[in-house]
Amino acid sequence: MNETDDNNPLFPDPHDRLSRLQHTLDRVASALARIADGAASPTISETDWRDSLSRMDFKQPREFKAVIDWLVNALSEGTVHMTHPGHLGLFNPKPSVLAEAGDLIAAAFNPQVCVRSHAPVAVDIERHTIEAVADRAGMPEGSGGHFTSGGSEANATAVLCALTQAAPTYADEGVSAFDGTPRIYVSAESHLAWLKIAHQCGIGRNAVRLIATDGNGAIDIDALRGQVQKDRQDGDVAVLIVATAGTTNAGMIDSIAGCRDIADSAGCWLHVDAAWGGAIIASDRYQTTAMPLGLADSITIDAHKWFATTMGAGMYLTRDPELLAQVFHVQASYMPSNDQAVDLYVNSMQWSRRFIGVRLFVSLAVGGWAAMAQHIDQSIDLANYLASRLADAHWRIENAQTLAIVCATPPPDSAPVETIVQRVVDSGTGWVSLAKLEGRSVLRACITNHDTNRTHLDALATTIVSAAKP
Ligand SMILES: *Cc1c(COP(=O)(O)O)cnc(C)c1O
Repeated sequence: MNETDDNNPLFPDPHDRLSRLQHTLDRVASALARIADGAASPTISETDWRDSLSRMDFKQPREFKAVIDWLVNALSEGTVHMTHPGHLGLFNPKPSVLAEAGDLIAAAFNPQVCVRSHAPVAVDIERHTIEAVADRAGMPEGSGGHFTSGGSEANATAVLCALTQAAPTYADEGVSAFDGTPRIYVSAESHLAWLKIAHQCGIGRNAVRLIATDGNGAIDIDALRGQVQKDRQDGDVAVLIVATAGTTNAGMIDSIAGCRDIADSAGCWLHVDAAWGGAIIASDRYQTTAMPLGLADSITIDAHKWFATTMGAGMYLTRDPELLAQVFHVQASYMPSNDQAVDLYVNSMQWSRRFIGVRLFVSLAVGGWAAMAQHIDQSIDLANYLASRLADAHWRIENAQTLAIVCATPPPDSAPVETIVQRVVDSGTGWVSLAKLEGRSVLRACITNHDTNRTHLDALATTIVSAAKP
């Protein structure tokens, strides 16, 4: 029995705790069961919603069930639904139940993963998973890395590693450690968080060279080589080349081998941003020689994209894990230990840390690489199917289909793509997006939900084709 018996709703007794969690699970399950029959995009009235939210003023406590029901209802009406089979979105998946179960366990034990001595099992599970992914990606033995909040943190880690590698005194002196302006090279079709990251690292947004693409959305290798040479002649320091393996717009893959060559001759770091596309390593069928990830010094792969975990799970993989401690080392008297090899607070960006990797661990432990492979293969097959349905209706497929994204433009004399996308989203049948590929507006659809099947895509294709009427 609880000695204080104060009825504080934050900390009920074990029986009440379980019944609250059970209530939450039940409500979520019945809400999710209805999502496929409703709209994929928000239906909530903005004024009603703001009014309803403002009444939650935190002055009057409310009943647990009432708040949970309110929240689940609000989310049901006020979200683009990743779990809707018509959601062909921006890489955000319907999460697997294996990832959800892992997340629940992480929440319940709430281990502090920043120090191994506090959470040896959690830290070892994450390391074991990271090493398995690095190995599967073709990285050499001894490679390592860690889980991150997402791709952006992993990419920022790559920039810091590259800067530290290029000028070991950067850690203490910042940009003044460089004789010339440090430069990082990414393609114009890359994920533009690179600009934010350059700002955060103190090298400034202008340090980023956005290299032209080749007409198909991949980096123009000759343009990259030319820019690196020119900058070096001008006294700049080439610090990092980024190859994107699976661009966000169109899933295009930069030449990793070409980037490796140029990085070698400039003596700089090669990072491969495979935040979404890197999941292809699971597939024996579609794993592509166009993605030799093992050539990279470091790689970003998000678990919360194509590996279908819940949000907030990225990975930074590197062939030089020792460099991480040079970047992130710190001493704090109150910390129980300071072991650069295993304590994540001294070799990664975060301090207090969630047990992020458990979601991918449970997914791979239960399903093996085979379950991931089947999921990946199915997504690609379905994307090809959607592309063929649109091509039958005389749409033009603007990206070569190697991954699970379709970028398409309508036949001449159709409504503008912007209008078509808006009509599809308004219809509720599905969620697709507008993207720019090589400067052209395209309708973008990406298979992100394992429940999506050909029947859904038939319906979506019909909606898209009729939305194209001028
Ligand atoms: C999604 C994505 C990112 C950013 O990752 P987050 O997990 O959203 O932080 C970076 N690069 C590419 C290629 C991406 O697709």
